[in-house]
Order: sequence, then structure tokens, then C-alpha cells
Amino acid sequence: MYPSHHTPLAVSIETQGSGKITRNPYLRKTGRHSKIRTPDHEFVFNLNGEIKFIRGLNTDWPHPSEQLKRTDGNDWVYYSVGDDSTENGIISWMGDYYLPCLPYPSNAVWEINYRENPGIMTAFASWSQLFANLYDGVHRNTLHPNAVDLAKLILENDDQALFNRSRELKSITGDEISVLPPDTRHADYELIPLTIADGCLYHCRFCCVKSSHAFSPRTREQISDQIQQLKRFYGRNIENYNAIFLGNHDAVAAGKDLICDTASTAFDAFGFGDSRPEAPRLFMFASADSLLDAGEPLFDHLNRLGFKTYINVGLESPDPLTLKNIGKPLTRSKVETAFEMICALNNEFSNIEITSNFLVGTDLGEAHYEALISLLSHTPAPLKNKGTVYLSPVKESPKKRELLPRIREIKQQSALPVFVYLIQRF
Ligand code: SF4
Repeated sequence: MYPSHHTPLAVSIETQGSGKITRNPYLRKTGRHSKIRTPDHEFVFNLNGEIKFIRGLNTDWPHPSEQLKRTDGNDWVYYSVGDDSTENGIISWMGDYYLPCLPYPSNAVWEINYRENPGIMTAFASWSQLFANLYDGVHRNTLHPNAVDLAKLILENDDQALFNRSRELKSITGDEISVLPPDTRHADYELIPLTIADGCLYHCRFCCVKSSHAFSPRTREQISDQIQQLKRFYGRNIENYNAIFLGNHDAVAAGKDLICDTASTAFDAFGFGDSRPEAPRLFMFASADSLLDAGEPLFDHLNRLGFKTYINVGLESPDPLTLKNIGKPLTRSKVETAFEMICALNNEFSNIEITSNFLVGTDLGEAHYEALISLLSHTPAPLKNKGTVYLSPVKESPKKRELLPRIREIKQQSALPVFVYLIQRF
């Protein structure tokens, strides 16, 4: 089609992607989407006409496999492939071929200031220009008739509308989702947030993501209302989702009945039983105490729910002095018992993977690293390469790149897969 300024636009409307989340961001298109290409950029929109991806097509774009993605929280995240595309590159650190570069402070080892890259600045300007051209095209009647409905839908989603939608979503879930479990990388962080409990059990001193709430589960009525509101909020685009995050910081502490009943109700309400190409995923956090208290029936039930379930547990350190210094109210023996339980559950339940987090930081003492390597190297190898251990750089840790040799040493000695945990908000 040719809007009034004569820049050719190639438009494809609601085409079906592979439905699979590929590891290569160049190919990552899930579900059904619309696409507009100018000679210089490609813009991808979801079924509600909201901008989702932008990619440059010319030589000023940093790398053909990189792209910008707008999250449902309305953050523009840049997917970088790093500077080493071999098996020693980003994939060996993150478990994925790309590094999400965030527009807010986090605990990243690699600081990439993508917003100052001229090619990326041009892409944002080009998005504004496309928006203006579509407006012009609709009002002067110069668009191809088949593209008019898509253009109108896109125009309903200007910057203010997108911001308002992200606020609306936050008010539906009723709490800030300041961090997602690392396992959500398996769904490329594309998930429906559903809060079943607020707060957490410990309020650790080191933690930069905790909320001020004491732990408190939501009522069934609140959860059921939330599910209905989420269904309305996502509208047609709900078919492009295949994952739920049960929030917030310790869903497992909410207990078996609330977890399993909520997951089943959401499964039906969000249409996960239809023909999506992969089993839906269910993500949540646990703590050492909530995991140890949970009991076999929770895992037995979760294993049969129709989801592939991922539970992430923050253990932080097996070293008592480190636990004391970071203000985490756990003992060495509780950390070790929880870790043993995680390994056993991973071997027992094929549809559940439980992962754990430990801290890394230049300020942590040798005793922390010795205890951690001892724990990870004396664990029997898992049956199915499950039980990933995530290493989370302490946010305030200076010189994070200096952690890489440390992380490599832990990886090499661990019987379990080890990756870096990038703290990413919803
Ligand atoms: S680490 Fe987990 S349990 Fe501790 S304060 Fe943060 S959210 Fe709460």
C-alpha cells in the first residue's frame, strides 16, 4: 500500500506464526500477528493492534538477529545477541541466544546502552513516522482498502493508550510484579500474570524486589474476578498466550488448593485447552519454607494439570555467614534440605521443573563460593537435565563483569545446568 508520502509499505494481516517460541529472535514470532514493512524497518502488531516488535532491515541496525520488543508492562526491551555468537557467547551464560537489555536498572552483568545506538534511535523515530503516515492515510483515504481496518486498530493504540493499558493491567493484578521467575525465559516472558497472594515470608535485607506486604493469599472471589478481568483485558490477543505466572513472590505458600484450583480455572478461561501447539506453562516462585511445607499432593496434582510447571526457589547461599550477612532467615541445613528436595521432585515429576537461585557478587566471601560449589558438585546428575541453578548477581555488586570467571567456575563444577538470572519486571 502507498500512504500519502509515497513510502511503500508491505502489509500482512493476522498471519499465523509458527506458534513455537524459537531460540533465534530473528525468527521469533508466536501466534497470530500483523506486520508492516517499510524499506528500512519491520513492525509487528498483536491482534489488538498494539506494537510488539520493531526490527531494522538495513546496515544501520546493529545485527539482523536483534530486535526491540514491547512488553505488556510497556517497556521497550532490546534483544541483543552479544558480541560472541559461538557456543561460548550469550547462550552459554543465559541459556538463550539473546540477552534482554532492559530500559531500567537491573542486575545485568553486561551493560548495553542500546538507547544511544543511532540505528535504534532511528527505529523509534521511524515508528513515530509510520504512526503519523497511517493517520494521514486513513484520513485522506489513501490506504489500500484491505489495510484500513488494521491501520485504524493501530491508531487506537497510541503511546498514551499503551501506557494506560499497562496501568490497567497493573490495577487488575493489584500488585507490582517487580520480578519474574528466570524460568519465564522459556515463554520469552510472554505470560498472563495472575496474583494469588501478596507479599512474601521473609523480607530479606538484600532483596531489591520485595514488596512491603506481609504474606497474604487472595480470596477465591478476588481471584475469580481477576481471571474474568484478565480475559476481557487481553481480548482476541489471548490466543497468542500460552503461559501464566501465578504471583506474586511466593505463590507456593498459598497452598495446594488455591494454586491448583486457580490454575485449572485459568486454563479453561484462557482457552489453553484448544489447539495451541505446545503444552501451556505455569510459572511461580516458592521459598525454602513453602517448598518444604508443601507436601507431595501439591506436586502430584500439579503434574497432572495439563501444564508444564516451573517453580523457582530463592535459596541464595548454603553458607551460614553469607545468609546472615544478606539478612536471609535460613539455616545451612534448611537450604541443603530444600535443595535435596528440589532434586528429588525433579526426578519424580515429569511435568514439573523446580529451579533454584543463588547469589553471586564480588562482595560475597570465599566461604559462599566454596559451599555453593560443594553443594552443586556433590549432587547426583539429574535424570532429565532439569533443576537449572540460576546465579543472580547482587544488584549493587560493583564490577559485575568480573563475576564471569566465577560464574564459569561454578558452571564447570556443577552437576546441574547453571545460567545467569537477569532480574526482569513484568
Ligand atoms: S528474596 Fe524473596 S523472600 Fe526474600 S524478600 Fe525478596 S521476595 Fe521476599
